[in-house]
Amino acid sequence: MPMAKMRVHELAKELGLSSKEAIAKLAELGVEVKSHSSSVSEAEADRLRSTLNGGAPAPAPAAKPAAPPPEPKRVPEAEAPPPAPKKTPEAEAPPEEPAAVAEPGPAEPAVAEAIHISRGATVEEFSGKIGQPPNQVIKTLLSMGTMKTIAQSLTDEEIELLAMEFGASVEVVSPEEDTEVEIDLTEAEDPSTLLARAPVVTVMGHVDHGKSSILQHFRKREMLSFEAGGITQAIGAYQVHSNGKEVTFIDTPGHEAFTQMRARGAQVTDLAVLVVAADDGVQPQTVEALDHARAAGVPVLVAVNKIDRPEADPTRVRQQLAELGLQPEEWGGDTVYVDVSAKNGTNMDQLLEMIHLIAELQELKANPNTSARGVAIEAHLDKGRGAVATLIVQRGTLKVGDPVVCGSAWCRVRALTDENAQHVESVGPSDPVQVTGWSKVPQAGDDFRVAKDEREAKHIAQEREAKFRQAELVAASKPRTLADLLSLTQTGEIPGLNLVVKADTQGSLEALIDTLEKLDQTEVSINILRRGVGAISENDVTLAAASGAIVVGFNVRADASARQLAEADGVDVRPYEVIYQLLEDIEQATKGLLAPEQREVVLGSAEVRALFRTPRGVIAGCYVTEGQIIRGSKARLIREGAIVYTGDVSSLRRFRDDVREVASGFECGVGIEGYNDIKEGDIIETFEVREVART
Ligand code: GDP
Repeated sequence: MPMAKMRVHELAKELGLSSKEAIAKLAELGVEVKSHSSSVSEAEADRLRSTLNGGAPAPAPAAKPAAPPPEPKRVPEAEAPPPAPKKTPEAEAPPEEPAAVAEPGPAEPAVAEAIHISRGATVEEFSGKIGQPPNQVIKTLLSMGTMKTIAQSLTDEEIELLAMEFGASVEVVSPEEDTEVEIDLTEAEDPSTLLARAPVVTVMGHVDHGKSSILQHFRKREMLSFEAGGITQAIGAYQVHSNGKEVTFIDTPGHEAFTQMRARGAQVTDLAVLVVAADDGVQPQTVEALDHARAAGVPVLVAVNKIDRPEADPTRVRQQLAELGLQPEEWGGDTVYVDVSAKNGTNMDQLLEMIHLIAELQELKANPNTSARGVAIEAHLDKGRGAVATLIVQRGTLKVGDPVVCGSAWCRVRALTDENAQHVESVGPSDPVQVTGWSKVPQAGDDFRVAKDEREAKHIAQEREAKFRQAELVAASKPRTLADLLSLTQTGEIPGLNLVVKADTQGSLEALIDTLEKLDQTEVSINILRRGVGAISENDVTLAAASGAIVVGFNVRADASARQLAEADGVDVRPYEVIYQLLEDIEQATKGLLAPEQREVVLGSAEVRALFRTPRGVIAGCYVTEGQIIRGSKARLIREGAIVYTGDVSSLRRFRDDVREVASGFECGVGIEGYNDIKEGDIIETFEVREVART
């Protein structure tokens, strides 16, 4: 019975087209399909058939035959449509001139686009080339009456038969012919080029719950089983092999790296292992880590650690996480939990197995046979080796000699070093590798790709650098003072007030934190990012700058370098000596009431040398000693160091003319609004009041 729907590759096979051609021709007919395994309706299939048949009604589709297996379906069942002109040698009387057959049909192009398979390719190689899981290929071989293992070679005939079975268009070539044309990086990957790749895993969770211990356990095990007395090198990621499968672990516990990378738009992680200590349960960073994983759309597997501890309560962990939406599989949910002890190694194999299982469900694939692309997960400046970065390849193969651009850095790969300090010639998808020789230190989270040549790499890097500078300028104008933050909180743009709190003693720090936490946070929440005893340091300012926080100091000041940095980065640093004032400011800020601080800025000063009485009052004949005197500005009258009066500069004259301002070194007449009791020898200091952030 004809099926209501059929797969694109089946239809392609029936019509003697490659899947790609069939997809293209369907698209011309307005039928959008994603891949060779997508389905089309009978009507859609008919439309394609009739187009190719020049309008003739289509015969029954060659859907999967319900017929018994002995005859493998190597030939399209229906003989009626134009025979698929596959390059079968039996095709009768092939005309000398290819043009002669060109008339209605698809014909030769299929050959031009065929996937090249080396003669004698193994099951595994073949599977990779056509993007099918090896076990599927083995099964299909079995149904054809042939039993092969993954590492065994295929005959030419088997390759042809399998290709037909999977709807792939292949050409068996001698190994030296097997060089594929480089794929344009902007072009979407042809599904048939995709090969399974290892999952890239990040271990996350609350501090001290055992993230590092889990990573170390796997790392040690790997070293024991693979390299006798191997040297290791912390490059930020490493691979673990088991049962012929690999996992790449990002070796940076905690979610800082993860967050940092995501902030840069990079997503390397395929799977997050959420570690929760069975004796401690869900803690704040557990929730944060989960939020990060969810925001990134990364599946989560829970490792309930420290089950060796007497107080361990894995059920409680499940209950707590179930409340957060991680319903355990054993309770009918879909989150996998593994109870482990990183310390004793209990169930660590099972954890690895589960990682593989989840990864398999994700069907992670990449084309290894193209120029490499990926992400830098770690980078630093090494005294001996210069700029060093660890890259994770996401597709393609990275080779020594490749010109690479990563963010605004570039290099020609001089050496590739793996986590075992081994030099390697090339690395493929999901492999981590350390690369030296960069023009500058790339940033974790920057993506990298192989360029056409060094010139292109350099050019792209420089263009990005220029854009980066521009972006920095924009960022510099971003508001970061308490008052600015406040206006944002009022418009609901930031969720809370981030604080870095420093104090002179542990006691005052604790008291301060305690009081801060008790403030009414209904409108704006207070997040204390860092607390500490001691002067406000450069580090504090850096953190504040990175997180849009303000720094408050109680009885402590910022040291010189911190002050400079704060100024450069526009960070609001506020030292206080009265705890009440600090609290009041913060409270006002959280309530949206903070008035900007007003500060007097001295504009200039003048010495009174003579007095002139006029109908409009006393005018002081002055000599400007500093800055300038400006009409309309505020003035203070200082006599022997004490302020005797504060008012406005009501008149300002040079000779007989009214002027707006008089600079230092000149004489002038100054009248002070509402004050006539000026004396010779008095100092008139002018100032204005500016609204500024406190420093
Ligand atoms: P991280 O901060 O999450 O990386 O946690 P660590 O891996 O540094 O572990 C914190 C502490 O817990 C260390 O003292 C570890 O020795 C201990 N620890 C880790 N895993 C286990 C475990 O399975 N059982 C026990 N009893 N202790 C563990």
